[in-house]
Amino acid sequence: MAPLIHVINHQKTKILATVGPASSSKEALLDLVQAGVNVFRLNFSHGAHSEHQKVIDNILEINEQYKVHVGILADLQGPKLRVGKMENNGLEISQGDILTFVNEECIGTKEKIYMSYERFASDVKVGEKVLVDDGKIVLEVISTNKINEVKLMVLFGSLLSSNKGVNLPDTVVSQPSLTEKDLEDLDYVLTQPVNWIALSFVREARDVRDLQKRIKAKKHIAKVVAKIEKPEAITNIKEIIKATDAIMIARGDLGVEIPIEKLPALQKMIIAKCIQKAKPVIVATQMMESMITNPSPTRAEVTDVANAVLDGTDAVMLSGETAVGNHPGLVVEAMRRIIGEAEAHFYLQGKRPAPDPDSDTFLSDTLCIHAPQMAESVNAKAILGLTVNGYTAFKMSAYRPKPDIHIFSDKPYMLNTLSLVWGVTCHLYTKFTTTDETIEDVNQILVDEGIVQTGDIVINTGSMPLHKRFRTNMLKITIIE
Ligand code: PEP
Repeated sequence: MAPLIHVINHQKTKILATVGPASSSKEALLDLVQAGVNVFRLNFSHGAHSEHQKVIDNILEINEQYKVHVGILADLQGPKLRVGKMENNGLEISQGDILTFVNEECIGTKEKIYMSYERFASDVKVGEKVLVDDGKIVLEVISTNKINEVKLMVLFGSLLSSNKGVNLPDTVVSQPSLTEKDLEDLDYVLTQPVNWIALSFVREARDVRDLQKRIKAKKHIAKVVAKIEKPEAITNIKEIIKATDAIMIARGDLGVEIPIEKLPALQKMIIAKCIQKAKPVIVATQMMESMITNPSPTRAEVTDVANAVLDGTDAVMLSGETAVGNHPGLVVEAMRRIIGEAEAHFYLQGKRPAPDPDSDTFLSDTLCIHAPQMAESVNAKAILGLTVNGYTAFKMSAYRPKPDIHIFSDKPYMLNTLSLVWGVTCHLYTKFTTTDETIEDVNQILVDEGIVQTGDIVINTGSMPLHKRFRTNMLKITIIE
């Protein structure tokens, strides 16, 4: 069967799709790859390890069989708080009612409702707000015994359904970012060739560093995605971006934890900071929500996806749309069309990233920024780079150049990782003999794939001497013969 390489990586902004019952078979995953998915997200809030294993095997088989480089992101649930089961599956409540939350499992009634967070009573303070079911219910703490019981007054809401999520936007939550469940999931994930591990409810850079240490201890090289969904993460955003490998703007929980009208400006601020630091950034949640049931998106959704592209995000993410929706393939196709149209109008607003003279990598950083700059000024068709650990790709991508960036590596795992990165197209190349020969080879690959033609200008970058595998230290302008 013909390789699908021309189907994916066509666009600079990448598509991340969550896998679920609607998309976990090999056929369904392949359909989504053909429609334009670059990275699949496994959501560890749902599903047994055996189910995730089948999906991972299917993705790896597709990569092998069709010579594509689809990445895998494992998303750890983190300290997601929930109420327990309710009497009759839902409790009628009204403004002024007093509810009691306890940390012992029980069937919820107005007198006693189970809340999954053990330290709830000791963490909350009188007067703090507690939001349930994406903020559809607003409660206020009126007393706590600091051990296991909290009384709350209903400020807003009418039906409290079973197992709904709870957010504590005002509370300093003392629970660590990695729960016992996350640690079990992480033990499993680190036996698999996943490329990215997402950490939920990050509050500070230390949360990210803790996960990075655990990954390293297992001699895994997965990179960390810090999910921004708490007000504390916004306060600490600079340090978190510095510590992490990538960011996800998790608008679902973030839109509950902060006033929702602040989301658009925060999205722009976080994307701009990530570009400056060459850290990939993902915009997530409700991008094409109506397509869970409908065959086409709303005007607002089209505009939302296009605006994320215009903000310069590396990737846009689908959740329920591909996990449990009726039209996973149509959603991805629609998203790809919106991205294609928006990219025609994209230019990086604000400053382009500049190399930091105090950085250990200042010289390579300078070269990785000048290569795309030069590519634009000579109207080059492509920028070509070689990578071992992805460094060159991250740095060049951050410039957000007009020409495509083609990255060659002999490490398929690294190419799968780079599938998330803006503007990067990945190619497996295993020869690496001499610099001259490698440049000729990689240029020829682009000619063979119809990406460049005789007379086109390309910018070649690499590292000399080749066998030492230094960081990128060489730049050449080539006219394709
Ligand atoms: C979100 O809250 O936007 C999000 C992506 O997190 P999750 O789907 O894991 O709740």
